[in-house]
Amino acid sequence: MAEVTLVDIEKTFRDNTTVIPNLNLHIEEGSFTVLVGPSGCGKSTLLRMIAGLETVTRGSITIGGRDVTDVEASQRDIAMVFQSYALFPHMTVARNIDFGMRLAKLPADQRQAKVAEAARLLHLEELLDRKPAELSGGQRQRVAIGRAIVRNPGVFLFDEPLSNLDAALRTKMRVELAELHQRLDTTMIYVTHDQIEAMTLADCIVVMNAGRIEQVGSPMTLYQRPETLFVAGFIGSPK
Ligand code: ADP
Ligand code: MG
Repeated sequence: MAEVTLVDIEKTFRDNTTVIPNLNLHIEEGSFTVLVGPSGCGKSTLLRMIAGLETVTRGSITIGGRDVTDVEASQRDIAMVFQSYALFPHMTVARNIDFGMRLAKLPADQRQAKVAEAARLLHLEELLDRKPAELSGGQRQRVAIGRAIVRNPGVFLFDEPLSNLDAALRTKMRVELAELHQRLDTTMIYVTHDQIEAMTLADCIVVMNAGRIEQVGSPMTLYQRPETLFVAGFIGSPK
């Protein structure tokens, strides 16, 4: 597991829109940190900069004490799970999970053991020979998480991973994600616009609004002592 530190981060896109003017954030090693905020406030952009999928205009990013500001995505100690599962349709579940390790040319026995372990953690053992089209939405999302797990990253990044699932499945997957965080003993940074998801999963919530951080704190702190009206409204406190 690893900590993540963002110092004086600005993001201005090529069309000169500044989405994030100046953001500072320290994410604790081993935490389950949830970024919340309305659609368009810059959550995905922030996550993509941590992942290295988007450059920063200004500022620096360290992961596990290492400055990765100019390090490409594949060389950062992270794995990212998206809202759309982005599985390879022609490959089996096992192949999909194995794909990154094959690219990295890890030995076959090591890869097999890791696929088996991920399958066990994610309840995919019976499904390893199926193709993505033969899976439910929740099962596909588990495969996407499996692909991230086998990389053994210090930091997991999730961008609204459950938003395509129905309500019952979302609740179930929430429980599984919390268990996964405990078992893997890893840092998770999780983006959602769903307050309930944030309140139940997070040990730390970062409330964003228009590219800025409104407040950082535990679910209880944000609920009981919101510092701004925006936070109070967003977290749903009676204040
Ligand atoms: P969120 O994930 O919180 O919904 P995003 O990070 O996706 O928000 O987007 C934040 C803002 O940045 C939005 O106004 C969006 O239109 C803008 N944006 C995102 N990507 C680009 C891009 N490649 N070029 C210009 N603007 C962008
Ligand atoms: Mg987004």
